[in-house]
Amino acid sequence: MKTYIGKIHLKWCKNCNIPLLGRVCEVCNSKAEEVKLTPPGDPRLGFQYDIDFVNKIIEEEFGAKNVLNGKIILLNKLPGNEEAYEVITDGEVKYIIYFDEEQEKWKIKLKLNGARDLMEKGAYKRIVKIKNDVVEVLKNKKGSILRPGIVEFTDDIKKGDDVIIVDENNNVVGTGLAVVSSEEIKKTEKGKVVKVRAFIKDEDKYKPKKTYNSLEKAFKLMIKANEGVINNYERNAIGFIKNTYERIKKPVMVAFSGGKDSLTTLILTLKALGKDIDVVFVDTGLEFEETLKNVEDVEKHYGIKIIKLKGADFWEKVKEYGIPARDYRWCSEICKLEPLKRFIDENYEEVLSFVGVRKYESFNRATKKRIHRNTYIKKQINALPIFHWTSLHVWIYLLREKAPYNKLYEKGFDRIGCFICPAMEMGEIDKIKREFPHLWEKWERVLRVYAEKHNLGEEWIKKGLWRWNHKKRE
Ligand SMILES: [Zn+2]
Repeated sequence: MKTYIGKIHLKWCKNCNIPLLGRVCEVCNSKAEEVKLTPPGDPRLGFQYDIDFVNKIIEEEFGAKNVLNGKIILLNKLPGNEEAYEVITDGEVKYIIYFDEEQEKWKIKLKLNGARDLMEKGAYKRIVKIKNDVVEVLKNKKGSILRPGIVEFTDDIKKGDDVIIVDENNNVVGTGLAVVSSEEIKKTEKGKVVKVRAFIKDEDKYKPKKTYNSLEKAFKLMIKANEGVINNYERNAIGFIKNTYERIKKPVMVAFSGGKDSLTTLILTLKALGKDIDVVFVDTGLEFEETLKNVEDVEKHYGIKIIKLKGADFWEKVKEYGIPARDYRWCSEICKLEPLKRFIDENYEEVLSFVGVRKYESFNRATKKRIHRNTYIKKQINALPIFHWTSLHVWIYLLREKAPYNKLYEKGFDRIGCFICPAMEMGEIDKIKREFPHLWEKWERVLRVYAEKHNLGEEWIKKGLWRWNHKKRE
């Protein structure tokens, strides 16, 4: 990874078992320990929905129940085309969940301590027991487990599954990938069975970590443990907003999207400049009901009026323009940018717009300047008060402020926007199908009409091929 965004802020108090953003825990004064995770490193806070979701994958695959209850989890999206997240809990990455597009389901990869937690919680599936002398051979290194090294195995293993490796005393000694199924292990006396993913080292220590009665309790402690850091970030952002306004002296606008970052930016701007600002929401016609409700909640909570703009009707335009794709995002221009551009043209000479863009969101965003002119809407000067915040800063801030955030976040959504978008991953589409079947059906009907007309076949719909290349399609 070449691009440098900045250091990854995530740390952990191993004593309180909560995430930290600063160097010490402000509750118990313990020194914060680094959490190793994959860049760009902008993990999101897991809600109960996410905990239940990962618990369910674990239970299906290994039989262990409620493994993550009473703990704070964070989900760190991995770069790449496959939708995958590192699941961080107890201060380390314990699992990776990923959406298997072939099998159309979420699956899991185990880290060593993740596997140990599973055994503590009664895992009884996908276990391979190996001889103690093989453990000695594999210790401190990785390799493969061969058929003669195996004592026992459960009969549910399929090729490509993650398995827990235990020694003859049932201690977890590793995790790995089954290269053959239980059926095949039974039939053979030699050959490779498991490719080791992680294996114990000499200095390994393992101890189950502290849990909380409720996630709410854990969140409260997390807010307390990060209070000073969050106050500093807030002070800095408010200072930035005030200074930028003093310098540029233009009418101020906040574009509110219903997402957490724009909500945070709105709160900070209200604190810095008061209510004499324009707050604008663009309804693309593809908004979730939760988002429209959130706009109302925010108006009520802060005693403000939000200006609602509406662009061309997507469902009409789709007949004219065809299905949007990643290289053909007419919808973003026509349904989102155009109404905003018109509003700005009609109302301002120039406008200073505070925007909730954060550098940790992506490598692409990290190259932005904190104050810059919008390339599409020239009259708009963008300023980014929370540019240096991570997703966790935002969440701790919103929770502390008891801010009315969009309820979609409690349904496993991370990116709030149109309910249908060519930028969506297959895992996100799977979530829409599960949580909002009526919305998906409406879209699938449009896809079907288009597919029939252009002879595109069922795969084009089911495998999400519509999201890709527009030019090839016509
Ligand atoms: Zn602590």
